[in-house]
Amino acid sequence: MRTKEGQVEEIIKGVGISKGYAIGKHYHFEKQKIAISEESISEDKVAEGINFCKNTIDSYIEELELVESSSGEAKAISEAHIQMLSDPYFFSCIEGKIREDLKNAELAIYETCKEMAEVMASLDDLYLKEREADYRDIGESLVYKLRGLEKKSLSALPDKVIVACQDLSPTDALKIDNTKVLGFVTEKGSKTSHTAIIAQNLSIPAVSGIENLSESLKTCQSLIVNGYEGIIIIDPDEDTLEAYRKKIEDEREKKHRLESIKGKKAVTKDGKEIRVGANIGNLEDLSDALKNACDGVGLFRTEMLYMKSQALPSEEDQFAYYKKAGQLLDGKELIIRTLDIGGDKGVDYLQIPKEDNPFLGYRAIRLCLDRPDIFKAQLRAILRASALGNIKIMLPYLISLEEIRQVKKFLEEIKSDLDREKIAYDKDIEVGIMVETPAAVIMADKFAEEVDFFSIGTNDLTQYILAADRGNTKIVSIYNPYNPAVLRAIKYVIDQSHKKGKWTGMCGAFASDPDATRLLVGLGLDEFSLSASKISEIKSIIINSSYEEEREFANRVINLSTVAEVEDLVRENNKKACF
Ligand code: PEP
Ligand code: MG
Repeated sequence: MRTKEGQVEEIIKGVGISKGYAIGKHYHFEKQKIAISEESISEDKVAEGINFCKNTIDSYIEELELVESSSGEAKAISEAHIQMLSDPYFFSCIEGKIREDLKNAELAIYETCKEMAEVMASLDDLYLKEREADYRDIGESLVYKLRGLEKKSLSALPDKVIVACQDLSPTDALKIDNTKVLGFVTEKGSKTSHTAIIAQNLSIPAVSGIENLSESLKTCQSLIVNGYEGIIIIDPDEDTLEAYRKKIEDEREKKHRLESIKGKKAVTKDGKEIRVGANIGNLEDLSDALKNACDGVGLFRTEMLYMKSQALPSEEDQFAYYKKAGQLLDGKELIIRTLDIGGDKGVDYLQIPKEDNPFLGYRAIRLCLDRPDIFKAQLRAILRASALGNIKIMLPYLISLEEIRQVKKFLEEIKSDLDREKIAYDKDIEVGIMVETPAAVIMADKFAEEVDFFSIGTNDLTQYILAADRGNTKIVSIYNPYNPAVLRAIKYVIDQSHKKGKWTGMCGAFASDPDATRLLVGLGLDEFSLSASKISEIKSIIINSSYEEEREFANRVINLSTVAEVEDLVRENNKKACF
């Protein structure tokens, strides 16, 4: 069908990187391309060139320190960039290019950032790979500064618009005026990019992967972004517009309803209280979690602290960090997961040799037990912080009782040291484990006797039960927590913990899937831990469900044989729910 202006509606498929719908006019955000000067400098200009770079970097750091952040992720970006800019190695590369190769300041900066970006891009580690964009971004910003040019930014947009661009750099994303941006459409950008994370945090719908964007939007009068399905609709006709206006209205109502949930306890209609905590990786995430009225933190991924540092964080640094988190939570539970490095998460300074099967290799608790120097420093920092907050310890990737007992031995040794040194700690600190391996499931009855709680890590558990790599996009349909094998494992673990008077939470991504909430309530889960933005939605589903009804439903599900049967029954059950 044609629009009033006679254009034909066109749907283009991309990748949805942030959920939601937007209708509006597009605004093409394109930055001025700068041709880098290749001119060499004379020897007598070397000191001047180095000084020029130093002053430019310092002034950029000052600018970043002043950035008013609208989300935790924005703050994390500016802090990460400050850290990268302050790295002595970074500056020594620039200096070397000027001093030894007589390169001019902008060429030295441009080449250094490009080389650093290329190194990052070549790494296997997904987290470090994303740093490629940060180095390119830093290079671009510094060159603009050297030239005294103002970088076009998203902080002063003319009107409410859908921003269309090749790619958003992390600092573009940082300066977004979210009262003016209705949505994003980009050519590049993955689901884990800064753009995606910021868009998600600000609840701005976004679609990436739209090729030849400027060509496609050349004559576009109006645009729809559908971040759920990862499509954009160019010049939608009246019927489509009407349908999308309705979707936006429904979303607004839902948001309003969820706002009213904030701060309420998640108690089912028949009185079972279930905690809904947050997963965090740093203090910025914690501030998002607190804004979303989390009941506590069910998973603090401490490896993030190790990954962003250039060397092992000291006991003192960790103590300050955990103490701060505990204090911010003000009595609410903080479950600190001990170092879960290895597998997909590496840190260069540990120099872990390359492995053929890193997901089955030297990682998490295995590494920690092999490196008591690292592990004991962390345990000691956690114990010290436990005097000042409601802190619990959680161990990742367990497969045996021996591992649990060895950790307990370490804890006893550290506790005696602390007693001797008259340093306070929580003498009854609870110690739990993540259930992420088939061994932990099969041994759940025995493990439950030795630990205070379980938290099911469905991201890894699904991977190991189904022998399906969690990061392989070719087998996403196989990697599915609705597989009855995974559901039976979940039920078994919860039942075993309850038999021994212990509780079970879930901190894998399955806990944040609203379609799974009723089923998990029925399976008897005691705590959900998930990303901050999902807290109210999951609480709302729990509040509107009945434990007894969902228990009966879960018993039916657990007896099904195929994924399709499970998904059909879950869909049917969710449809019945009216809230
Ligand atoms: C999990 O495996 O479900 C989990 C929460 O741990 P991570 O995603 O950090 O491996
Ligand atoms: Mg895991």
